[in-house]
Amino acid sequence: MSLLQRCQQILQTRQAEQLYRHRQVVQGPQGVELVIGARRLLNFSSNDYLGLANHPELKKAFAAAVDKWGVGSGAAHLVNGHSQAHHALEEELAEFTGRPRALLFSTGYMANLGVVAALLGRGDHVFEDRLNHASLIDAGILSRARLHRYQHGDSSALAVSLAQCGKGEKLVVTDGVFSMDGDLAPLAALAGHCRERDATLMVDDAHGLGVIGASGRGSLEVLGLDSEAVPLLVGTLGKGFGSFGAFVAGSEVWIETLIQQARSYVYTTALPPALAEASRASLKLVQQESWRRENLRQRVEQFRAGARQLGLKLMDSSTPIQPLLLGSTERALRASQALREQGLLITAIRPPTVAEGTARLRITFSAEHQTGHVQRLLDALEQTVARLA
Ligand SMILES: *Cc1c(COP(=O)(O)O)cnc(C)c1O
Repeated sequence: MSLLQRCQQILQTRQAEQLYRHRQVVQGPQGVELVIGARRLLNFSSNDYLGLANHPELKKAFAAAVDKWGVGSGAAHLVNGHSQAHHALEEELAEFTGRPRALLFSTGYMANLGVVAALLGRGDHVFEDRLNHASLIDAGILSRARLHRYQHGDSSALAVSLAQCGKGEKLVVTDGVFSMDGDLAPLAALAGHCRERDATLMVDDAHGLGVIGASGRGSLEVLGLDSEAVPLLVGTLGKGFGSFGAFVAGSEVWIETLIQQARSYVYTTALPPALAEASRASLKLVQQESWRRENLRQRVEQFRAGARQLGLKLMDSSTPIQPLLLGSTERALRASQALREQGLLITAIRPPTVAEGTARLRITFSAEHQTGHVQRLLDALEQTVARLA
């Protein structure tokens, strides 16, 4: 069989198993309403949790920065692509996260690959929650360290694994908020085991920073952990911050090591400076407008109370990620389609993104959702999901 034939076969199997992915063409900006094709859909599928992706302040900062900086950054950070805009954003992110330094990466995926592979090598050990984001799993593989995966949220399983691993440096890596489940990692327990076993803890808080915690400082703020407990913190700018890019925050030595050794940092073009300026505008709003987090919290509560009344099976999440577990791929797809017919956009999440038999609707909320929107969602769920056998 040729390589091309193998690809054809894989595509056919995917189609037969209802796992084939399609892209839908969006016609306008992100928002609680999304225009797709000829339809206007109420959107419960975006990661733009704070409603900042199309915010006038971000657009203004971005446009003004294009005027000042042009579009392309022209080179990698270590050549001559590191602008004052990037530098200022790094300083502001360091202050926001309460750490000496922060380092910008082009995406969260690249930040994760870069950090883990820069710090570990053959003979070392990386420990990961089974439900960690794909980029963290890939980072572990790329690093050539031995990859140990522990049961989701199970800090005792981690403790056993840490005790048994033998020689070599140890890095424990976890999502702060799990992207498909919405729950928080047991960070205090993980940090305790790391301290005991001389391991370093790295938290990827892509869905937490900006979004949860009284001042938007994410999972660490909610769980009361400082930079000693969590020396390496990864954040992304394309979700709650409504912009694009990512960063790692930590002490001088961590960040300087990454500048020297993180290949996905060194060998790639710096972000457009205008994106850095848009992120700076976003970071201001994240800090000034705590009402966005308060709105979100209220919408999530409204949803959970309503869903409970409908007898829907909720997952243990207090974040704006509120999945409804449906089990089979077919059931999740049918529910998503039925909701779409009622004007709601809610993506069905299927294997391999989630484990076999745990297909779900991944419902997400935005600070821009109104109580009426949530009520429409609940009514639609009553019409569809609550009746799905
Ligand atoms: C989305 C996500 C990433 C990737 O970030 P991008 O900037 O989109 O590449 C990394 N980690 C987690 C937990 C994520 O949810």
